[in-house]
Amino acid sequence: MPELPEVEIVARRLNASLAGAVVESVLAPGMNVMKTFDPPLDALVGREVTAVLRIGKMPVVKFGDLALLIHLMSAGRLRVFDKRASAKDRASRVLVRLSDGRELRLREFGTKQRAWAKLLETDAIGEEEMVATLGPEAWPPPPLEAFAAAIDQPRHLHPLLRHQKDIAGIGRSWVDEILWEARLSPFKKGSELDAEEVERLHAALHVLGDAIEHYEETLGPELPDKMPMPLKVHRREGEPCPRCGTTIEAVFYEDYVMCYCPQEQTGGKVLKDRRLSRLLK
Ligand SMILES: [Zn+2]
Repeated sequence: MPELPEVEIVARRLNASLAGAVVESVLAPGMNVMKTFDPPLDALVGREVTAVLRIGKMPVVKFGDLALLIHLMSAGRLRVFDKRASAKDRASRVLVRLSDGRELRLREFGTKQRAWAKLLETDAIGEEEMVATLGPEAWPPPPLEAFAAAIDQPRHLHPLLRHQKDIAGIGRSWVDEILWEARLSPFKKGSELDAEEVERLHAALHVLGDAIEHYEETLGPELPDKMPMPLKVHRREGEPCPRCGTTIEAVFYEDYVMCYCPQEQTGGKVLKDRRLSRLLK
């Protein structure tokens, strides 16, 4: 799933490439992709793309006083193509055809149709439920006090940091990187952190900014569907920790994996792999 750094670079590249482009027509081949019907998609015809930006993990394409708010879910991708999609392209969800022949395409891979979009009055975006309920943006980092308040909750840091209503933009990949950078256990609770640990966690948010910078430096104007993410611990179980050399361990869940350095994050303890314990029951 694209997280804050990936959506940010997509928004920046699309903003540079699309600003000023005029909409010729809009189609929504994805059956249930549009979660609004008024104004209709046709209201975009003849309008210019005025900006592309990011809110949390959601790209927003602005067309003057109307804007398309997009939720990519786990498998959605937003890209501009030089040619129009074939009618047979089953990944197409929303196609914004531009008068210069290009096409902004929301596609979704896999069998599920979960990505969605809403066409809203630009001024009303902040009131939209998915936006209004977001916690502070993880990058640029919120002030320390706001961050401390956001995470002061009796829940494990791993799900807490991924919970968009508490802090916006972090998902299953970057949470491992942030916790490793802060040398904190994914099973420590937000409300258990002392002041120094909160500061360390807050400071660790810089990995998100570093990732954006990495993308800026290494990726050209055209972005690939699969971003080469500069991850140091996530999905690197079995490899040596880049900082201390201890073997990176993982806990496997049904649909994601949590990676950490036992030496630096869990006091030397290797956490029980729930996948194995479930199998052994
Ligand atoms: Zn380590």
